Amino acid sequence: MKKNTEKTNYLRSIAKFARLRFSIEERKAAEIYPFLASNYYLGLIGKDLKNDPVYRQCFPDARELLRKKELLEDPLAEEKQMPTPCLIHRYTDRVVLLVTNRCAVHCRFCLRKRNWKDGNDLKDISDKYLHEACKYIKGHDKIREVLISGGDPLMLETASLKKIIDSIVKIKNIDVIRIGTRMPVVLPSRIDSKLVRMLSKYQGLWVMSHFNHPVELTPESEEACRKLVKAGIPMLNQTVLLKGINDNAKILEELFRGLVKIRVKPHYLFHVDPAEGNIHFRTGIAPALEILRKLRPRLSSLCTPVFAIDLPEGGGKVPLLPDYCRGGRFLGINGREIPYFI
Ligand code: SF4
Repeated sequence: MKKNTEKTNYLRSIAKFARLRFSIEERKAAEIYPFLASNYYLGLIGKDLKNDPVYRQCFPDARELLRKKELLEDPLAEEKQMPTPCLIHRYTDRVVLLVTNRCAVHCRFCLRKRNWKDGNDLKDISDKYLHEACKYIKGHDKIREVLISGGDPLMLETASLKKIIDSIVKIKNIDVIRIGTRMPVVLPSRIDSKLVRMLSKYQGLWVMSHFNHPVELTPESEEACRKLVKAGIPMLNQTVLLKGINDNAKILEELFRGLVKIRVKPHYLFHVDPAEGNIHFRTGIAPALEILRKLRPRLSSLCTPVFAIDLPEGGGKVPLLPDYCRGGRFLGINGREIPYFI
């Protein structure tokens, strides 16, 4: 596969931020999980660096070195659920196709940190693996949906991505293709007219973005989403709940309202998976549900994503809601308990 090198204007070394005086532990964390960010994304960082939501999402933290037996390199057992290389089959009706392990930003909370840790080889799916994955999908007619993921699939050249989509749409049992990407957030210039034209040709194709904080909603990122939506491509967004970054009802309200305004539906809000190197981003379930409880009276269902945890051992996603029922009485929007006749 050809690589998308047209806009690779990245900072690959934290040495460029030497004035920040990184600690030995932070440097060690960056040795294990290499730093990578687009100049555009770094440009969103404000003055209060260590509390900045963008800074914290892409700069190393000493706590990435913490190890516990519950934290795993592959917390969702994805590698065990791969019938062919690059293809995860967990749910009956859908699969995830990993087409690259390259990204425009190395997000410090990433579930698949294992794919880019220790300077792992950066590579795209080979023709052989794509062929094997398509053969498997064809042979399992209950599979109706393919999520193209990675890494970031939009790191591929538009022509290479088209080749992958073309191979999938030929499979008769496939109705829907989703592309999971952080590009509208971290490198919005990647959403160029050539890419949008190509994607808009496919019926049943959805783009899933990954906005985590309202500061990521800039004129550039909003324009990138607008281009996709205007071309008829429906968009959903996934947010990861990140401790100290967006674990606050006011911040999430602003983010979800901002997304709906540009016609991007907040789809999922995920608790951070128990992956090695991510522990400091985990909020815990009870505080997360408390945030949701505060959001409920403030936001319409259009603005409200499903909060979910992804179970270890490949157990799948479980949606969670605050408990509104207390022995036949239900919690109303003003916090009053009201009986309900059944
Ligand atoms: S862009 Fe996605 S795959 Fe890449 S580091 Fe960020 S979260 Fe992980």
